[in-house]
Amino acid sequence: MNVRFFSCTRLVGIFLALIALLGTVSAQSSDLDAIRIGKHPDKTRFVMELSEEPAYRIFTLPDPYRIVIDLPKLNWKVPKNKVPRATGAVQALRFGLFEPNISRVVLDARYPVSITSAFLLPPKEGHKHRLVVDIKRISATRYKSSGEQKRQLTSTKPLKAKTQVAATPVAPALIAPKVAKKKAKKVIVVDPGHGGVDPGAIGVSGIREKNLALSYAKSLKAALERSGRYQVVMTRNSDTSLALRQRVGIAQKAEGDLFISLHANKHPSSRVRGFSVYSLSENGSDKEAEALAAKENKADIIIGFDLSEQSADVSKILIDLAQRETNNQGKQFANVLVGEMKREAKLLGRPHRSAGFAVLKSPIIPSVLVELGYMSNRQEERLLRSDQHREKLVTAISRAVDQYFGKLESYNAQ
Ligand SMILES: [Zn+2]
Repeated sequence: MNVRFFSCTRLVGIFLALIALLGTVSAQSSDLDAIRIGKHPDKTRFVMELSEEPAYRIFTLPDPYRIVIDLPKLNWKVPKNKVPRATGAVQALRFGLFEPNISRVVLDARYPVSITSAFLLPPKEGHKHRLVVDIKRISATRYKSSGEQKRQLTSTKPLKAKTQVAATPVAPALIAPKVAKKKAKKVIVVDPGHGGVDPGAIGVSGIREKNLALSYAKSLKAALERSGRYQVVMTRNSDTSLALRQRVGIAQKAEGDLFISLHANKHPSSRVRGFSVYSLSENGSDKEAEALAAKENKADIIIGFDLSEQSADVSKILIDLAQRETNNQGKQFANVLVGEMKREAKLLGRPHRSAGFAVLKSPIIPSVLVELGYMSNRQEERLLRSDQHREKLVTAISRAVDQYFGKLESYNAQ
């Protein structure tokens, strides 16, 4: 498996690019109506369908290997369900405004590649203007020796870059994703679930989830800060109500590198017990997980926040692209956490699950929701209330944080 980590700065960059794009969509730019990625025995073909014949500039970059396609400013019109899955040489796709009048598409490649051809096809049989880019795998040695990095394929019509000062933020991520701003300490956002008028679940002894979550969060903050490697930001320090969106907002404002929401679960059967961790699902997940997500998401309704405000379709599609990368990192952390927790606590069957938790939906910060155990199980509830058990669990979580960032560093150092 090709595990990829992305720096937070890079994701922020992508996010800015998306925002920049949203702010600059105008009538004179052409539409990007469809994209396709096809895997063939000898090549990977990338096709874009556009409302007008585009000027283009296509080149590759190493570290990590990627294909860059610059075009005149485009309106993204690809429906969410028509964004193709990465395949062949392509491992991920990003899109954003690069300069005021230039849109940039970046295809992250799985390995060193060469652009074998790039050409335009006129409208025909229901298709609009098509830009076809064929890429094939080459060795790293060949990539270097053939001067592939200096090669540029351009349209006969030149791509005009306006010299005016960019009024919109230019995404550094779309230029050099590996150049990440070095922060002195990683910022971990710890989110005690529920609070204030929303008690969360009630345990068999009468303890409330909101109080249990806060006590674990405080211990986790202390454990993480003891290492000297992390700055910890709590979404709440006391028994106050907080909307899910506000929690995500606090994390983003703090430029968090990791978001950990702490909860305790309940089940109709008093026998069910065990630790579990949830990452955000992209598509469907199991019924039980969705039911739990629905319950946790209800927190906003309980404390009186309106969930009906929806972002525009376009922004959703673009944010989804960034979110896919972030989700992968959240899943990485969840897996590491399960590995650490195995030695310390009883785990729920399939301890790493995924569902549509609203609190995990930051498109920038890898996020997980931890269900520490079941408050509906007498034995586990007693354990959860004990100082010793709490120390054991938060120590395991902070070990997982160390391990997760250790892997990230080694990836970035490669
Ligand atoms: Zn909860």
